[in-house]
Amino acid sequence: ERDLFAMDTYMVLQAYGENAQAAVDAAADEVNRLDALLSTGDEYSEVAQINAGITDTISDDTAYLLERSLELYQDTNDAFDIAIYPVMQAWGFPTQEFAVPTQEMLDALLPLTDAADISYDAQKKTIHFEKEDMQIDLGGIAKGYTSSRIMDIYRQYGITSGLVNLGGNVQVYGAKTDGSLWRIAIQSPDDESSYLGVLTAKDVAVITSGGYERYFEQDGVVYHHIIDPATGYPANNGLVSVTIVSADGTLADGLSTSLFIMGKEKAIAYWQEHSEEFDTILVDEDGMIYVT
Ligand code: ADP
Ligand code: MG
Repeated sequence: ERDLFAMDTYMVLQAYGENAQAAVDAAADEVNRLDALLSTGDEYSEVAQINAGITDTISDDTAYLLERSLELYQDTNDAFDIAIYPVMQAWGFPTQEFAVPTQEMLDALLPLTDAADISYDAQKKTIHFEKEDMQIDLGGIAKGYTSSRIMDIYRQYGITSGLVNLGGNVQVYGAKTDGSLWRIAIQSPDDESSYLGVLTAKDVAVITSGGYERYFEQDGVVYHHIIDPATGYPANNGLVSVTIVSADGTLADGLSTSLFIMGKEKAIAYWQEHSEEFDTILVDEDGMIYVT
């Protein structure tokens, strides 16, 4: 077992098997490599260099995430929108210098936050923004991709059983060493020390998005970090927590953010159309829990 702080969060990596130590060390290296590549706040990261217009050539990891993100943008009817970064900045989330932006500011920024204006050339692996001052943020999907990559590493190292917890984003490899299923607690949205229930599973990612994770308060109002691209405001469509369970960690992360933005009706309709790809646990603002 190894713990580390990366991607702005506390992480725990566990593995069992002959090469377990080497596997968790390789996993930690991979986390740090992806953090350095994808962090918007690190001016030398690839994403920051793309945002600054310094480079338009992207690595395989970023290209993969870009493709998945643009696919989600289509599939989620624009809810998942990596071009949201200028609005994230207006709210002060990247720097933690929080402020509620004026409607004027948002009206000026919203035309820049449409992923449809990202041109990506899959052959040349280049990216181009159709509008000046556009910027991207892979924070809604990066941790799920990272946990998926760790599962690949565990496979390469012949790990028998493993679990990673990247700040509440959990992915498990195989079952527990005694063959029984992993027990994964789903955090309660209104009390950090309590949980909604316990899920038993193997070989899946279990990823939760909620407005309680990163937020600030101003004049008694809570503003969180999951932005509805339709308004530029923190999504407020009736859900307080969305958990996605899927074998595909990248998908689970992207969808936890997306379904949270969609709200209950659209989230349920989305699941009904994609029920082979994932399961979900939704909590609405009245405390009702919906489990597929
Ligand atoms: P966490 O990172 O806390 O696990 P999420 O997976 O829900 O939570 O991701 C929230 C992050 O996603 C934000 O910090 C921001 O970087 C990014 N984000 C915010 N709004 C959107 C959006 N509409 N589409 C895509 N990404 C978003
Ligand atoms: Mg997410």
